[in-house]
Amino acid sequence: MITDILDKIPTPCYVIDESKLIHNLEILKSVEDKTGCKILLAQKAFSNFNFYPLISQYISGTTASGLYEALLSHDYMPGAENHVYAPAFTEKDMSEIIKICDHIVFNSFNQWQTHKDTIKNCGKKIECGIRINPEYSEIETDIYNPCFTGSRMGVTLDNFDDSLLDGISGLHFHTMCEQNSDTLERTIKIVDEKFGKYLKNMKWINFGGGHHITRKDYDIETLIKCIMYFKDKYGLQVYLEPGEAVALNAGYLVTSVLDIVKNGIDIAILDASAACHMPDVLEMPYRPYIIGSGQPGEKPYTYRFGGNTCLAGDIIGDYSFDKLLNIGDKLILCDMAIYSTVKNNTFNGIALPSIASLQKNGSFKILCQFEYNNFAIRLGNDRIYYGL
Ligand SMILES: *Cc1c(COP(=O)(O)O)cnc(C)c1O
Repeated sequence: MITDILDKIPTPCYVIDESKLIHNLEILKSVEDKTGCKILLAQKAFSNFNFYPLISQYISGTTASGLYEALLSHDYMPGAENHVYAPAFTEKDMSEIIKICDHIVFNSFNQWQTHKDTIKNCGKKIECGIRINPEYSEIETDIYNPCFTGSRMGVTLDNFDDSLLDGISGLHFHTMCEQNSDTLERTIKIVDEKFGKYLKNMKWINFGGGHHITRKDYDIETLIKCIMYFKDKYGLQVYLEPGEAVALNAGYLVTSVLDIVKNGIDIAILDASAACHMPDVLEMPYRPYIIGSGQPGEKPYTYRFGGNTCLAGDIIGDYSFDKLLNIGDKLILCDMAIYSTVKNNTFNGIALPSIASLQKNGSFKILCQFEYNNFAIRLGNDRIYYGL
């Protein structure tokens, strides 16, 4: 357990918990085994490739949001299925993608027409698909809703040009976010009503991500029913590409208290930052759970936690504890494997947290550490100095 090894962890540090990852992967594999569907890791949520060999033992492959993620999959999960989708591909990116990907999903018929010949002439079989927008989503926050009015994500039924389907073998939709399978059940009904006539001639359908399959209250039986529905009705291979569900609750961000200041409330300054190390806390926004904490006022000692940046709003949240906090105390922020290491940044020149693994046998291993150079390298060229 993470609490057993707290002394050994230098802060700030993301710790990926292998046992928790395996727990999730076993659930995902059981869905593959029961239905014959294929599950892909959406790398945009979790790209820590040291774990790709482990992940590839359980699920069928990965999906990428573009060339670089596809390359990561190619390098660290060789032999697995390598899918890619992007709102648009450049010709340069496509010339690399055709060498490494087996499935390419286009966001528009225009993109498909642009790249069709390159793919046809590439000398290997690549499955091509179109992302559809079924104009049905139960996501209430627009920033995460690919179906909001005027969305650029996917082709609506009105814009679907079936005269351009030659060479297209699959359809893809992605309309969910952190949702249960009842949402999927309602969604596939709409997809079937609107696009069923095209599915008859397809080989595969991709249900996208946003399926919270590894969450405790997730209804797997309904998911299985949805997969079997398309499989039985149209003989389709069904793909799911969850990101969150692969590494849900499988990581932590461990941080230390650097100082405690007062301004109406006790405020602890941490060596981790919401803005730099867990931007979803501010973007979504949400309040990450900290081990041993309660809601503000619930336990005797309440603190506000803030990052070590100059951004006034770099606040993680307010939490209460049974004991007084001291400078040097370590805190464990939960569910920090997803959308964290892939999104962090060095705003303010803040150091990036190390990334470590809590292995299945209980041992703790640092996978990578960062330094000044990781900050500087993105901001200029160190071979070209003034006056040199
Ligand atoms: C974000 C995304 C995913 C993964 O979504 P999760 O919410 O992390 O499961 C899958 N497919 C596409 C196209 C995405 O944009």
